[in-house]
Amino acid sequence: MKKSLSVLAALLFSTSLLAATPWQNIRQPVSGPAQSIGAFANGCIIGAQQLPLKSSNYQVMRQDQRRYFGHPDLILFIQRLSNQVKGLQLGEVLIGDMGMAAGGRFSSGHASHQSGLDVDIWLQLPKSRWSEAMLLKPQPLDLVSADGRSVNRNWQPQLGSLVKLAAQDSEVTRIFVAPAIKKQLCAEAGGDRDWLHKVRPWFGHRAHMHVRLRCPPDSRECQEQQPPPAGDGCGAELDSWFAPPKPGAAKPVKRQPPPLPPSCQALLDKHLL
Ligand SMILES: [Zn+2]
Repeated sequence: MKKSLSVLAALLFSTSLLAATPWQNIRQPVSGPAQSIGAFANGCIIGAQQLPLKSSNYQVMRQDQRRYFGHPDLILFIQRLSNQVKGLQLGEVLIGDMGMAAGGRFSSGHASHQSGLDVDIWLQLPKSRWSEAMLLKPQPLDLVSADGRSVNRNWQPQLGSLVKLAAQDSEVTRIFVAPAIKKQLCAEAGGDRDWLHKVRPWFGHRAHMHVRLRCPPDSRECQEQQPPPAGDGCGAELDSWFAPPKPGAAKPVKRQPPPLPPSCQALLDKHLL
């Protein structure tokens, strides 16, 4: 039985990223002390917590997807950040995908968010709270111009403040935004630039920031990433995102997901029997 399930899981993982994954069948967190396991893009979590869905400081979108679980550190981070935003009256914080109850690969969307340490926070700070209907079908606000080179008129300075607040949190190691958004942050930052180090240009991310926390110290099987390169990342590295592709440059290949960490495979085998 176990073997056939592993084979089934292997089959599921070897098909396209859009295929259903067994992880979404685990509806409740796996009980135990909180442990983020494996890599951000190949892992799982034991002892995840659900982000409280009712809060006066933030709103949770697409609750039907049940992607509102994470390591307790992630819950605390979201509460800390949204408290600060509330205090500064920057607007309403909109929380997008976190992770599933036991983490693992989503059947659609991003490859990371697997170990309970990633959250998407929308770069939109509405002045009033959204209705249930709006939260279920949220409309992203594209912040990047059609040519991808700059932000457009949807950009607001308070969005820069939101990214900066998140980057200044000591538990945050990386924030992904579109290159044009990083460029705008570089231009607006003035002399206080240390936090820019954590803000990384990446594909997509035109309407939200993806915030990643460091591995919790007591999660021994959590695989940390190398810290971003030194400096504010506003120079040559950022420029390279706007340069035309070199002729003959190899197209990025879609790699197959690596095998699951053994603890995550064991968890799947046990919970999907
Ligand atoms: Zn994300």
